[in-house]
Amino acid sequence: MSLLKPSRRDILKMTAAAPAFALPATKVAALGGPSGDQAPGYFKFTLGEAKLTVVSDGEFSLPASTAGVNADPADVQAFMIRHFMSTERMEAHANHVVIELGDAVVLVDVGSGNRYLESVGRMIENLETAGIDYDSITHVVLTHAHPDHIWGIRDDFDEAVFPDAQYYIGETEHSWWLTPDRVNMVDEGLQQLVAGAVNSLNADLLQLTPVQDGFEVAPGITMIDTPGHTLGHMSVRIESNGEQLLVLGDAARNAYIDFERPEWVGSPDMDAEQTVATRKQLFDMASADRIAVLGYHFPFPGVGYVMREGEAYRYMPSLWHWTE
Ligand SMILES: [Zn+2]
Repeated sequence: MSLLKPSRRDILKMTAAAPAFALPATKVAALGGPSGDQAPGYFKFTLGEAKLTVVSDGEFSLPASTAGVNADPADVQAFMIRHFMSTERMEAHANHVVIELGDAVVLVDVGSGNRYLESVGRMIENLETAGIDYDSITHVVLTHAHPDHIWGIRDDFDEAVFPDAQYYIGETEHSWWLTPDRVNMVDEGLQQLVAGAVNSLNADLLQLTPVQDGFEVAPGITMIDTPGHTLGHMSVRIESNGEQLLVLGDAARNAYIDFERPEWVGSPDMDAEQTVATRKQLFDMASADRIAVLGYHFPFPGVGYVMREGEAYRYMPSLWHWTE
């Protein structure tokens, strides 16, 4: 396989790498597939003066064995069965957000584009459906450089999508992926991700600035260090008229496991101990200060609150409103 131009088959092989335990099929919460056309993938709401639109990039899944890799596999399976989750695949939605506040129109992450999996890469189409003008995006925040968050940064001509926007990424994240010869310092399974990140971060016409904890993208929109899932992962805090929302990125990835078993980590989490510490810190802050959260991989639209429950937490999805 070619590192620089992976075929779709290479990528499917990569995401299917770890086999799941063989278990009898059980009923799962997804209730099968769609019976016909689905509704457009966007969700609009307000936070103080900010207009927020969650825009879906689609969905994908990883083998279930990528979850809870530091826990007893029997406990992980029991958790999945009890929660009506698939014991074979970890399902993940991909929820981007566009923040319109003051003069800024900020998009968080650029999605998979057409270089990752077929079931993702719908963000641009869904932006259009949501009535958000492609040229209106002023800033793009990159939480981290994994394929589902960044491979969509290049169009078919290897040029940055939204070439007029200012892009920001954590300084640590930027230098980790772009360390010379990084591709030869990682396990074989990660090499494809390194090559993809390097190509993405070097896209033509990309106006990219590495930033540090507390960087203000625009008034009311701040990037904060949330390391662990990747070493330089960052999240976004939005504040308007006393209301707050944390765009978690992948600081929490599963709306059930990460909350009820905050000590468990998945195989994509690069630093297990730091992942758990960051997650607990964010959940403690969100529950104590009643700050809303948005999870990139939570069930669409992925917006809700964090409830404290003893030593663990619970995710409370917000209600979908059709009218004011
Ligand atoms: Zn992700």
